[in-house]
Amino acid sequence: MSYYLTVDIGGTKTACAAGTAAAEILHRREHPTPVAQGPEACLERIARELRHVLREMRGTSPAPEAVGVACGGPLDSRTGTIYSPPNLPGWDGVPVKAFLEERFGLPTFVENDANAGALAEHRFGAGRGKRNLIYLTLGTGIGGGIIIDGRLYRGTTDDAGEIGHTTILPDGPECLCGKRGCLEALVAGPAIQARAQRLAREHPGSLMNGLVTRSGEITPAVALQAAKQRDWAACEVFRETGLYLGIGIANLIQVLNPEVIALGTIAVHARNLLLSPARRSARRHSWPRAWKAVRVVPSKLGERVGDLAALCCALNAGA
Ligand SMILES: [Zn+2]
Repeated sequence: MSYYLTVDIGGTKTACAAGTAAAEILHRREHPTPVAQGPEACLERIARELRHVLREMRGTSPAPEAVGVACGGPLDSRTGTIYSPPNLPGWDGVPVKAFLEERFGLPTFVENDANAGALAEHRFGAGRGKRNLIYLTLGTGIGGGIIIDGRLYRGTTDDAGEIGHTTILPDGPECLCGKRGCLEALVAGPAIQARAQRLAREHPGSLMNGLVTRSGEITPAVALQAAKQRDWAACEVFRETGLYLGIGIANLIQVLNPEVIALGTIAVHARNLLLSPARRSARRHSWPRAWKAVRVVPSKLGERVGDLAALCCALNAGA
């Protein structure tokens, strides 16, 4: 059985595993990313974990075909070098590909996690059998990946798909990237949290005020819990978020005319509480023919997306 090694590097945890072209993930090992100890320590830990996975695979399979790595960007997918992602402080110019190729002697492919997620969603998830797909992660930040005619579109400087930083409101809230009114500043986790806190304040009777976390915070999870109980202010949090998200989606529809737009993380948890207002807004802001051709859906891969994303980096090799 031929297989691939997968590495999904996140700001809090890293997962290493073996995976097959049929999306089977074997001998998965997860460890906290030792961010505070610097990139060398992180890479050494990954090498150790991969050696464990290789030992487990020995006897059942020949050597792996390749290594796939998914990691937060910015990064250069050609050289496999990572440049200071916000979730990995101190990682500036870390040659992940060179390190792993030197250690394991296997071709290694590194992709930013949103692009890798798009590859996975296209191959195994909501975009199976489709030509054109856009994948949006919707967590603390917003990443995006674009598949056109079955291939990942990277753009001229590897910056294609940075949909989170398209401008939705020119005078909107400040974004971490330095601009104002980016999609990310309006609909990512921190923006949902700020909106929930404001609406909870404005509506003292809202269930959100009684559901605060142990630290007294009104988080997106609190808003979601209250919205599921049909609390008006909590539902309004997702209606407002959906309005902006829908504008972002409509812009993608107008430019790229995709068949599927798959949304991860928060959309997977919130489902129609967020997707219904987002679809209404997207329909209002896009042309009818292009709108009719597209399905706006939650990601199908859920928790598996990280491992499958890394796997797809290896499967996509050379594309
Ligand atoms: Zn931005």
